[in-house]
Parts: sequence; C-alpha cells; structure tokens
Amino acid sequence: MADEAPASTLPYPPIHLDKKFVALSDWDGTITNRDSNDYKRRAGNLEILSGTATFRDEFRKMLESVVENGHKFDECAEVLRQNITLDVGFKNFYNFCKANDIPVVIISSGMAPLIRAVLSKLIGDEEASQIEIIANDTIIHEDGTWEIKYRHPSSGYGHDKSQAILPYRRLATPPTIFFFGDGVSDMSAARHADVLFVKQKPGADNDLAAFCNREGIKHVLFEDFDRALGVVKKVVEGEMTVKDALAVGTA
Ligand SMILES: [Mg+2]
Repeated sequence: MADEAPASTLPYPPIHLDKKFVALSDWDGTITNRDSNDYKRRAGNLEILSGTATFRDEFRKMLESVVENGHKFDECAEVLRQNITLDVGFKNFYNFCKANDIPVVIISSGMAPLIRAVLSKLIGDEEASQIEIIANDTIIHEDGTWEIKYRHPSSGYGHDKSQAILPYRRLATPPTIFFFGDGVSDMSAARHADVLFVKQKPGADNDLAAFCNREGIKHVLFEDFDRALGVVKKVVEGEMTVKDALAVGTA
C-alpha cells in the first residue's frame, strides 16, 4: 500500500549510488527566502494541512490566476529573478557538500525552468546548470499562455516528493538522507528522511512542523543553512549519530 507509486510524466535523473550521504532539499521558502505574509496562499495552506484541499489543486488555481492576469512565462521568470533571494547559508552548505562528495538535489513542487532561471542569477550559470532538480515542468502554449505540467498528476501533491527519496531507501547500502523543507509540499517526503530539517522563519507559522508534530515525525528546526550545516557537519564527520541529531531538535 505504502509503495503504490504514482505514475511520473517526467524523467528522473539517475540516483547517486555508493554515496554515504545525500542532501535533498525543497526550493521555495527553504533554499530561497519567501515572503511569509502571503495571506492568500496561507488560506490555501491551511486547507491542505487540514486535508480539505490538495496542494496540486490549490497551486494550479494560484498559477491560473497569474496567467489570467496576462502574465507571460518569461515575465514571471524575470520577476522571480529580480525578487527571490537565497538563504544566507546555502552557498556555504552547497560548497561543503561538494567538497565532501554529498550530492545536493533540489526536490521541488515548483517548475524546473523557473528554478533554473532564478538559480543561475543567484549562483551563476555554471553552478546552476550542475545542480540536479526534480520538479514539475511548464507547458507554454502558442498564444503565450502557460500552465504547470505536474510530474504526478494523479497525486494530490502534483509532485509526490517521497518518490525522489524512496529509491535511495531501497538501495542495498542506502546513504544517510538529509532532507530540508518548510511547508505543505514537503509532507509526503517528511517521513522518509533520516534527518529531516524543518525551516523555521521567525514570526511565521510553520506548516511542516505542525504536520510533523501531529504525525510524530522527529525533525530538526533550522533558521538558515549555516545553522543546519553545523549539524550536518557533525553527522558527516562522525561526531554525532542521526539519532543524536534528531534529539537536538533545533540546529
Ligand atoms: Mg517550500
């Protein structure tokens, strides 16, 4: 039952074999900073958390209203490039992972072309082209309108992130899996990580933490990737077990 995988409309990159650690991270609001005062989205999130709506349908509705207001895809990409900022510690974290043979994979419920566009502005074209992204895609129509192409249209998540983690779990010698997330789109992945990091934004509600507390899923709260790196480093360097890391509670 738990292994019933939704069909994927998009390919996956090959999984990294024989790694001791992998770092999988949500993009929006985790690697990037997002305005948490998005009240319209907040109302949708509460419905998702309470189970009365799906992420897939709420997100599609939101995007449709953007298209209905006449915004072309390139314009949206440019607005995001101008406005999205990176978590203060992410570059450090990414460099540590690179130096220690830890693959970093972005697991997002957003659209890969937008993520790539923003990432190339934030960390440069070359680095941006190297980071793996498992996300949804975009369909751009001839009349200039566009829509999201969900990876898992049959899943209420649109992109069921657990499907990016489970192949690692099934390896004969699975790596230690670090997962970083902040919101309702990460709920499907939350229980499959070895060490789940939940991003905590000062003064904002935390939907993923609420979900984890309700479901009894142990996690580490972190404010930015510099803080998370402190814990990751200790686990990687053998100073701390996964269990110890989860017992810490806050990075
Ligand atoms: Mg997020």
